[in-house]
Amino acid sequence: MIVLKSQREIEKMRKSGQIVSKILQELKAMVRPGISTYQLDQRAETLIDQFHVRPAFKGYRGFQHCICASINEEVVHGIPSKQRIVQEGDLLSIDFGVIYEGFYGDSALTVGVGSISEEKQKLLKVTEASLWKGIDQMQVGHRLSDISHAVQSYVEKHGYSVVREFVGHGIGHELHEDPPIPNYGRPAEGPVLKTGMVFAIEPMVNQGDPDVMVLEDGWTAVTVDGKLSAHFEHTIALGDNGPEVLTI
Ligand code: MG
Ligand code: MG
Repeated sequence: MIVLKSQREIEKMRKSGQIVSKILQELKAMVRPGISTYQLDQRAETLIDQFHVRPAFKGYRGFQHCICASINEEVVHGIPSKQRIVQEGDLLSIDFGVIYEGFYGDSALTVGVGSISEEKQKLLKVTEASLWKGIDQMQVGHRLSDISHAVQSYVEKHGYSVVREFVGHGIGHELHEDPPIPNYGRPAEGPVLKTGMVFAIEPMVNQGDPDVMVLEDGWTAVTVDGKLSAHFEHTIALGDNGPEVLTI
């Protein structure tokens, strides 16, 4: 069941989203060759305390950190570690969420470490643009899979593939609510979109094949072919006048 949010609830989710965005932007600004994903996670924890919010991921199904940090061929759910030190030319995806007054915000971005090749810049650009293609379809009266289809067709048009195993989701009092939001599919299927729906749309885009597998740590998802992957995510509320990105 898709839980619709009232104006009052969306007001709280807006605040939650703004805090997610502020912290994520600060983490992004810290990324440089030689920094460990553990240092980024520690900084996230400090900022969470300063904003008087709670981490969305720490404690989630036993995950012990505030961010997911996924490098290069890692798609999502990378575990922060002192041993994972990013190098010039790497791609680093940071996924982050908080809980503010009982409401979740969830967002992710991928950043190049130092200077990156044009090929890598293109992967980031297409992945982020595909998220906005999906957001554009979040309109009252559209169907859920219009979002999915817009993301997939944009990504494939540029020669990349979308991950199937992980999907976007409704969000609110829970981190993962109905509906699941795949980044692939035919248009005009699934629930009709209504005012008060709040979604986390999050394309995961692979340079090569779409296939992913989870490593022995039980969390880190990587591409099977070892090629690069990128990930962008926003939390978005659907109002009478269209989508409002909350994590911005
Ligand atoms: Mg996320
Ligand atoms: Mg999410």
